[in-house]
Amino acid sequence: MVNITQIYQSQKAYFSSGATRGFDFRREQLLKLKAVVKENEQAILDALYSDLRKPAMEAYASEIGFLYEEINHALKHLADWMQPETATAPLTQFPSTSKIIKEPLGVVLIIGPWNYPFQLIIDPLVGAMAAGNCAILKPSELAPATSQIMADLITKNFDPAYIAVVEGDGATVTPALMEHPFNHVFFTGSIPVGKKVLAMAAPHLTPTTLELGGKSPCIVDQRVNLKVAAKRIVWGKFWNAGQTCVAPDYLVVHEKVKTKLLIALQSAIQEFFGQNPQESPDYGRIINHKRFQTLRNFIGDGKLLWGGKFDENDLYIEPTILTDVPADAPVMQEEIFGPILPVISFSTKEEALHIIAQHPNPLSLYVFTNDVQMEQFYTENIAFGGGCVNNTLVHLTSATLPFGGVGASGMGRYHGQYSFDLFSHHKSIMKTGTWLDVPIKYPPFGNKLKTLKLLMK
Ligand code: NAD
Repeated sequence: MVNITQIYQSQKAYFSSGATRGFDFRREQLLKLKAVVKENEQAILDALYSDLRKPAMEAYASEIGFLYEEINHALKHLADWMQPETATAPLTQFPSTSKIIKEPLGVVLIIGPWNYPFQLIIDPLVGAMAAGNCAILKPSELAPATSQIMADLITKNFDPAYIAVVEGDGATVTPALMEHPFNHVFFTGSIPVGKKVLAMAAPHLTPTTLELGGKSPCIVDQRVNLKVAAKRIVWGKFWNAGQTCVAPDYLVVHEKVKTKLLIALQSAIQEFFGQNPQESPDYGRIINHKRFQTLRNFIGDGKLLWGGKFDENDLYIEPTILTDVPADAPVMQEEIFGPILPVISFSTKEEALHIIAQHPNPLSLYVFTNDVQMEQFYTENIAFGGGCVNNTLVHLTSATLPFGGVGASGMGRYHGQYSFDLFSHHKSIMKTGTWLDVPIKYPPFGNKLKTLKLLMK
């Protein structure tokens, strides 16, 4: 096993040398990262195919093209982001000026999951590099081909004192890493492991970002373009075979459009993946046998409207729609994270809220409606990380929108400048001129309180 302490200490020393701080260094390294990904696109796509049978189109869009956009955005705005920000100083501190300096944090740890195993490590890394930090990356061992290609590419192209990859079993490697006082830990993964990571960060008071999951609802109101809604729901639900943290977990459909929506969903599945999705080159596979068994069991939790076929040897589960799902069924107790879509109907907006309140603070919310009042009602009355109106997933593709959860779905946010800010310390400085030294704050106070009350009222 690699010597974690040695890597950590070499990164500490490298960071202390100041090498990572300058604009030119950050820019060069981001350009290099982009070039490394570009030169190795096919190898990365192959690894993702091997781990998840990701179709090249899906893999390129969500794991490679997405990164180019984030790197390009960072390169375009880096100089601005690095500029100290001026802030107004209170009149009581006259003659003062204020500024905020964005400083790198130091050595950060980035821990990733298996479902977007490349992007969910490299994207936060873009923010960490832009902000001038050193980083240790811990990819998921459950996507071994991607973990290996990432380790190869980073080791060959970057000084390990700047960026290093530590591979291996999360339950042993992560605690060994977290014995060290990192300046920030960025974790993407499940809620139970997120809690463990937070507990491991506590002894060092290490600030921690948690990008977690949960059950993200998708509401379909009665005033809606059903055909478009069905396509966008099927696309978002079955992308990566449902193994997406922001996938619509379950549908909450107005009873007046339920039958029509179900028909439209079935048509969309057939249109996208053909009569036998197992033969479609555009449909992925389940990550491993453990997850396969969990998902297979979910299929029996409701009335099977569509799909339900599976093939364990191929880790294949057909796009599946369930109706008449009891609220206490296992499929409604935890994040599904697979290609099974329970459909629940409602008749009033309050009832829809009640259904969703069983799983508070979802990572995402999707609302399909042409009624602006309904849109406003749901987006204002439900606490969720982020979401879309009349679409699914796409909110996370924008570098100008913060991405992250709320409550149980996570803490912290990133993408674009939010990533830069996350990996920077915002250092506040007030500078006071010496040409005037207002005496009001100095004792003896006498009757200065009167003047103070006039100034601070
Ligand atoms: P996970 O929590 O099992 O694993 C995540 C990382 O933690 C991996 O690198 C793993 O090696 C490590 N790990 C595993 N057990 C550990 C332990 N006992 N102690 C310390 N580290 C440990 O998550 P996963 O199964 O890889 O990913 C699926 C989960 O991630 C889902 O809940 C999904 O919603 C969530 N997710 C969230 C986002 C997001 O952006 N919010 C994105 C993708 C996935």
